[in-house]
Amino acid sequence: MERSKAREIVDSVIRGMRYAMGIQEWKIQIEYLGLEQDVQATCDTDPRYKHATIKIDPDQIDDRARLLEVLRHELLHIFQSRLVSYRKQVMALVPETAQPALDVTYHDAIEETIGYIEKFLDFCGLETDTILRKANAAAHKWRRKI
Ligand SMILES: [Zn+2]
Repeated sequence: MERSKAREIVDSVIRGMRYAMGIQEWKIQIEYLGLEQDVQATCDTDPRYKHATIKIDPDQIDDRARLLEVLRHELLHIFQSRLVSYRKQVMALVPETAQPALDVTYHDAIEETIGYIEKFLDFCGLETDTILRKANAAAHKWRRKI
């Protein structure tokens, strides 16, 4: 997928997703660039400043549906941002030799948790387009601006 197309799609949904997820106060920077093979996107968060950086590799994403799945996945990582802070604190106390093993466990736990949430959302029929439709309906009902 071309970067401009990916940006256009993300721009059209990001406000609705932020509203639906209750993360409007977060500053979310989205970058479009090449990532290592088999990494379609990443999300780094800093909960102290409610700042997230999502990096997306459009070359590894075939279509709109997959892009929206990837975006939903990365946005869900914002819910885990306090764990990122916890990890940093723990790592400062742990000997350097033990850190790689803890990191593997940490990242496995983070991704597994998101995987369960995604399965649950899919089971409930809450793919990104449905979430957006519900966000728009809720904003309209409560006369709020998304
Ligand atoms: Zn992930």
